[in-house]
Amino acid sequence: MRRVVCPGSFDPVTNGHLDIVTRAARLYDEVVVAVLRNPNKTPMFSVDERLDMLREVTRDLDNVQVAEFEGLTVDFCKANGISAIVKGLRAVSDFDYELQMAQMNYNQAGVETLFMSTNPLYAFLSSSLVKDFARYGGDVASLVPGPVLDRLKVRSAGA
Ligand code: ADP
Repeated sequence: MRRVVCPGSFDPVTNGHLDIVTRAARLYDEVVVAVLRNPNKTPMFSVDERLDMLREVTRDLDNVQVAEFEGLTVDFCKANGISAIVKGLRAVSDFDYELQMAQMNYNQAGVETLFMSTNPLYAFLSSSLVKDFARYGGDVASLVPGPVLDRLKVRSAGA
């Protein structure tokens, strides 16, 4: 069984993430979308809220599971029988860091990283930009799944 992981913060999940997860799910037997619990970041949404949103928007993808983890992605991979990490690459600016991280992960644990080129529709898209624009009334309806848009509206109105 070929099981891969798409790790990240997903604060919140965007159409760019979902595009990568959907395409990975066509290629592999199982895709685990893993939310990193990172005490060094102040998120807009709690880990539980991020997990809820991910579960909701991946409900129709039968071979996609949602999980959370803390610590090293490669340790999560070892503990869950995952042989590869799938990452989306947006622009050259992603490349340096992602290449280093991929090489480190291979060096440390022999875990491969597979890069998927982003859908050009979402090449500019990041969770941070979505949050910034949503906070100040920007229209992000075409950039995030419906359930995420609803929560962004509530959170931004209350912020
Ligand atoms: P991080 O907290 O590591 O920045 P994110 O949750 O923002 O992670 O994203 C997780 C991963 O999803 C990224 O490392 C990248 O591989 C992928 N990704 C993020 N945004 C996009 C996008 N717009 N198109 C394709 N892939 C993306």
